[in-house]
Amino acid sequence: MSFTPKFMRSLRSFDRERRALRTAAEWYAFRMRWFDREKWPEKPRDQIGKELTEGHQLVSEIRDGRRWAPGIFTIDITPEARYHYFWTLNTIGQPLLDPRWSTIKKSPETGWRQECGYCFISTQDQGEPTCPRCGRELYWQWVAE
Ligand SMILES: [Zn+2]
Repeated sequence: MSFTPKFMRSLRSFDRERRALRTAAEWYAFRMRWFDREKWPEKPRDQIGKELTEGHQLVSEIRDGRRWAPGIFTIDITPEARYHYFWTLNTIGQPLLDPRWSTIKKSPETGWRQECGYCFISTQDQGEPTCPRCGRELYWQWVAE
């Protein structure tokens, strides 16, 4: 069974705090307080291989006209926790670290993709702002170097 990080056990306080963050310094303190990553376990290697196979199967069944790719996260936390973790990093943290993040034009041509951290799938094709599989809000991630 996957690990449940502490922020998932205090989701209401966690959410209230993350939405109140206004500066990079506040973000660093928040990240230290809530994302105790050293306590999050690694997945066994055979599980990672199995999940990648399942991920390819999953994206092959999506019929929304976009091309999706499965992702792999080697840390063994629940899908719900993974969604909150990546949503928070990309939607709250990155804009505080780089003020251009919120206003920059995000497109596949400039290295951006949209991801669902619950299903752990991503696409570079533009489309609906929600995940075709679970309906959660997709967040933007910058992938180009
Ligand atoms: Zn999803």
